[in-house]
Amino acid sequence: MAVPLVEMDGDEMTRILWKEIKERLILPFVDLKTEYYDLGLENRDATDDAVTREAAAAVKRLKVGVKCATITPNFQRMEEYKLKKMWPSPNGTIRNALDGTVFRTPIVCEELKSYIPGWTKPITVARHGYGDLYRDAEMDISEPGAAEIVFTAADGSVKREKVYDFEGPGVFQGCYNKDSSIEAFARSCFEYALAEKKDLWFSTKDTIMKLYDGRFKETFRRLYEEEYASRFEKAGISYFYTLIDDAVARIVRSSGGMVWALKNYDGDVMSDMISSAFGSLAMMTSVLVSADGCFEYEAAHGTVTRHYYRRLKGEKTSTNPVATIFAWSGALRKRGELDSTDALVAFADAIEKAVLDTIRSRVVTGDLASMMSPSPKAVDSETFLDAIRKKLESVA
Ligand code: NAP
Ligand code: MG
Repeated sequence: MAVPLVEMDGDEMTRILWKEIKERLILPFVDLKTEYYDLGLENRDATDDAVTREAAAAVKRLKVGVKCATITPNFQRMEEYKLKKMWPSPNGTIRNALDGTVFRTPIVCEELKSYIPGWTKPITVARHGYGDLYRDAEMDISEPGAAEIVFTAADGSVKREKVYDFEGPGVFQGCYNKDSSIEAFARSCFEYALAEKKDLWFSTKDTIMKLYDGRFKETFRRLYEEEYASRFEKAGISYFYTLIDDAVARIVRSSGGMVWALKNYDGDVMSDMISSAFGSLAMMTSVLVSADGCFEYEAAHGTVTRHYYRRLKGEKTSTNPVATIFAWSGALRKRGELDSTDALVAFADAIEKAVLDTIRSRVVTGDLASMMSPSPKAVDSETFLDAIRKKLESVA
């Protein structure tokens, strides 16, 4: 490795798996260089969360990071860990610092049946993470009257638009987005599609929300024509815009394989639909990509608290490490691509193949066993990792 990657350790069961993945699958094969940040909740508390901000700055500087799942504190965690403060979500802190888009992709294996049999290639959902219905203003209307949206400019001038003349009680809502954020979202999607060499689809409802959704559609179209069309052509991929209802119909009939960009609310709903159709949260990878080309890889699931408490009692658990392994392979591959270290890219491919070959040989954790028919007997996490290591030794 020429340049280190940013390693962000985490909490609970995934922290245990993190250490085992490194010891069993990475360190014996790679001369690993990382800048290590301990984002475990105890250390976030001890450093007044400075460690999270430092880790985010390190990803901006070094361009590639890999992150373990972390606890987002709530009242119960405040008690459990005797915290000084209810520290914010580390993912939120990192997302704000990088101003990026989250891409979620299922890990597909022919042994694990999708609920939609036609989907043989993974579908990546790219969800805009800013504004929209998540930062709306709402009003309860209790009597007849006129509802308007009003904009007061910095110079005091006013623009207004009638929404509805209420003849009785009802509800009323307003939401917003910023050109800068829409543009960053579009750039992240174009860059990701190019990096992955996959077609990019984008869908909104601009026939109804002509101005709001129209701004998204127009921003994507303009950037594509001005900056990306020739790069897409060279990479042999395409950009396709269609209405969201048409996109849903086409995606269900497709064999998958595309990146599907969606506004914040649409992405929230559709990413849950896609991940459940493909089978398991423990087989979803997640990468945060910024418009200036920073990549942060992680698993889509959390710290698997229920398994961790069983582990603390001395029980072996059958916790699935696959999404966390793929976070590592994704980060190593990206590091290898950026630094032209072919051996690192080859290792990333080899470890992913070893994981899939292990699943094909029907040695699996409990969550995967239940997705296979007939169901094999589930093994514990360590046995699963050792089986992956044996496969890896035979190829790496
Ligand atoms: P979770 O950790 O994703 O686990 C929920 C359930 O999903 C588990 O109890 C388990 O079901 C199943 N599951 C998830 N990952 C699995 C795996 N790798 N192998 C096998 N089964 C798996 O979500 P949570 O319990 O709601 O949250 C736990 C903690 O994680 C919370 O403190 C939360 O703040 C944090 N969190 C962090 C992130 C992140 O850092 N990106 C994301 C989400 C949540 P069974 O118990 O039925 O086996
Ligand atoms: Mg959701």
